[in-house]
This record gives sequence, C-alpha cells and structure tokens, in this order.
Amino acid sequence: MSHSVSTALPAADYYDVEALLYPREREKLAELREFLAAEVAPSAQGWWDREEFPFDLVPKLGALGLSAPHRPLPDRPPYSRLFQGLVIAELTRADTSIATFFMVHHDLFVEGLCEFGSPEQRERYLADASALRTTGAFALTEPEHGSDVAGGLSLTARREGDGADATWVLDGAKRWIGNGTFADHLLVWARDTSAPDPRSAVRGFIVAGDSPGLTRTRIEHKIALRTVQNADLTFDGVRVAEADRFPGISTFDDTRTMLLGSRLLVAWQAVGLQLAAFDVARQYAVERLQFGRPVASFQLIQAQLTQMLGNATASMAMLAQLARLHDAGEATMPRVALAKAWATARMRESVALGRGILGGNGIVTDYRMAKIFADAEAVYTYEGTFEVNTLIAGRDITGVSAIR
Ligand SMILES: Cc1cc2nc3c(=O)[nH]c(=O)nc-3n(C[C@H](O)[C@H](O)[C@H](O)COP(=O)(O)OP(=O)(O)OC[C@H]3O[C@@H](n4cnc5c(N)ncnc54)[C@H](O)[C@@H]3O)c2cc1C
Repeated sequence: MSHSVSTALPAADYYDVEALLYPREREKLAELREFLAAEVAPSAQGWWDREEFPFDLVPKLGALGLSAPHRPLPDRPPYSRLFQGLVIAELTRADTSIATFFMVHHDLFVEGLCEFGSPEQRERYLADASALRTTGAFALTEPEHGSDVAGGLSLTARREGDGADATWVLDGAKRWIGNGTFADHLLVWARDTSAPDPRSAVRGFIVAGDSPGLTRTRIEHKIALRTVQNADLTFDGVRVAEADRFPGISTFDDTRTMLLGSRLLVAWQAVGLQLAAFDVARQYAVERLQFGRPVASFQLIQAQLTQMLGNATASMAMLAQLARLHDAGEATMPRVALAKAWATARMRESVALGRGILGGNGIVTDYRMAKIFADAEAVYTYEGTFEVNTLIAGRDITGVSAIR
C-alpha cells in the first residue's frame, strides 16, 4: 500500500472567503503576502526568541500603504472591513507580534485620531502616522483595572486654566501598553477630576512619548507576543495642552465605536493563528514518518487536521459576515463580543491540536508551532477576555447582566 502524499494541497482559506474582496484589495493582499514571506516569516522566530522589536521593518510596512483609515484620506481610497480583517489575519499568520504592533498603531491610534480628533489635530498628526513615519500607542488598561477599566479608570487629569490656554496635569499609571516603550504618541484615557461628576467624566489625550514626568518601562519575561514591546507607564504630573485633548470625548461610552472595530480585528487574529497552526501542522504531518508512514496517513491525525481547518473556516465565515454588517453600520458590540469569544475559543482548540500533531517538536520554538501556541494566549485575553466578551453577548441574549 502506498502512503505517498499529494503535493498539490488545497489552500487554508478552504471556502475562498478572499474571493469576496474587490479586485484591487486582492492585489494588495497578494502584495502583502509576498512582503511577509520575504521580510517577516524568515526572521519572526528570531525576534520572538530575543524579545527584539524590528524597528527597520516599520518604514517598509508604512510603504505598503495599509494604514488607510475607514474614513478615506484625500489621497487614499477606503478599504472594506473584510479586507482589513484579512490583512490582520494574514499579518498574524506570518507573525502575531507584527500584526499586534500594526493594530495598536493603526486600529487604535490612527483610528482614534480619525474618530475623535479635531480637524486641527488630524492635520497635525494624521499624515505622518498613516505613513508610519511616526508610531502610536493606546493607553487604557491600568495596573489595578483591566476588565473593569470602563468604570474604574483611576489615572487622573486635572485642568489648570480655562479655554484654549488650559493645561491638563496627568497622574497615575497604565499597564500592558503595546508599543508603549517607543511610540512617538500615546492616546491616554483619564478621569477628569475638574468635572462636576469625575466618576463618569472620561477624557482622551494625545501625549508625546518624551513628555517630562512620563516613565516607560518594558514588561519583561512574557510567554506570548515577545516581539511586541508592552510597557508599564507612570504619569507623574505630565502636562498636556488643551490642544491635545480630544474634543469629542466626555464619557467612556464615546470610545465604544472604536473599540468595537479593534475587537473585531482581534477576532481576525484568531483566524490568522488558526491558519498558521494549520499550515505548520499539515506540513509537519505529511513529512513526519512514524511506523514507516507519514503521520498524516493516520486517521486520528486526519481528524485533528480536519477539526483545525473546520474551526478556522467557521471562524472566517462568521467574521466575513460580521465585516459586511460592520460596513452596513450594523455590527453591535454584543455581535462583535460573540465573535471574539467564539473565534478565540476555536483558536485555543486549534493551536492545541496543532501543537499535539508536532509531538515533542511542538514544544521547542525551532518548529514555529510553540510560538503560535503561546501567542494565542495573548489574543485570548486582550480586547476583552473570553469571559467578559461571553458575558457581553450573554447580557444581550438574556437581558440580564452577569458582569457586575
Ligand atoms: C499582550 C497584551 C497586550 C495588551 N495591549 C494593551 C494595549 O495596548 N493597551 C491597553 O490599554 N491594554 C492592553 N492590554 C490589556 C488587556 O486589554 C487586559 O489584559 C484585559 O482587558 C484583561 O484585563 P486584566 O489582564 O487586568 O485581567 P482581569 O480583568 O484582572 O481579569 C482576570 C480574570 O478574571 C476574569 N474576569 C474579570 N471580570 C470578570 C467578570 N465580570 N465575570 C467573569 N470573569 C471576569 C477575566 O476574564 C480573567 O479571566 C494588553 C494585554 C496583553 C496581555
């Protein structure tokens, strides 16, 4: 009996979701794939092992012109949400850390500027940020407030003076801030102690990374996203001009449209990780011989690969429909929360199956799978943990909140 394996194996995008893109988007995605194969895939494991961020990659990523916000810039056409999701999936498939760098910069910082910034602020910051000549971070989470940060924000902003000449003084701490060690600018969320009701008065500021009184300390010893530079930030009387306060933000609710978009893209990261796990596990299974046969020829391994591909395909199909709803203005936070919770749960199952298929080699970083497996843990937790997103959907379908 022959156990030879066909080399013409089907693509991991088994149902060809990519076919739903506009032609120019497909071309752009193909360009991105070539770029990632040449510039990211060969080096990603080394960056991760050394916990080293590849700064020389940033201008090259900028040159790809992916950082075009949903609202078109004068010189850039808008992209569909499906394209933006597939870009994040593709970046993640090559390296979750680079995808996360890009998302924090683009989908939180640049989108934040587009959504909340005044025309004057956009004029000052947007062109350089969109081209990645400057980098951004998004500082919301605090050491004592993660899941409950919406109601628990404790970093304070105190106003000195009035009108356009006012200055804000920021005191407190932030934790986990991606790109936080080096970003040129940070979007910082704070509670306004000068407001009549400081409990609900939330403000957003553009803070320069080199501001006096701001200390940025890299978080070491991570087991996931080791290439991403997450920071602990302390604000000790950091002064910010009124011109760098977002005019449109007065409560936490004002941030929700943007967080909805970024949460949806993190769900696409769960797709990218599943595609990566499938790519690596299938390749390994067709090459690895045991009992004189490729392990891919064993029924149990085929069942596991099929489960992984089913998980990835179902996650992709769910998110493709949600992207269409988003384009139509109908992607609510509970719908997004369901997708983020569900896709990340499927992801956790898929990467664990993939790790198992590599046997012992699945736990050493030389074979890619261990990194994929570890990176999935961060995606499971950020942009709302699995539990919190489950309860956001649960509240919507029952009418009863189990969150607080
Ligand atoms: C790698 C990484 C990058 C990040 N990047 C950023 C960034 O750039 N900017 C930023 O602002 N933040 C960032 N974060 C923070 C991230 O959003 C938080 O980690 C996340 O919101 C969870 O908060 P926490 O870690 O404090 O966990 P906690 O909120 O302390 O939760 C601990 C556990 O309790 C559970 N839990 C909490 N409340 C409930 C509840 N009501 N019901 C049931 N279970 C509950 C959680 O699900 C979790 O299992 C990042 C985090 C990581 C790990």
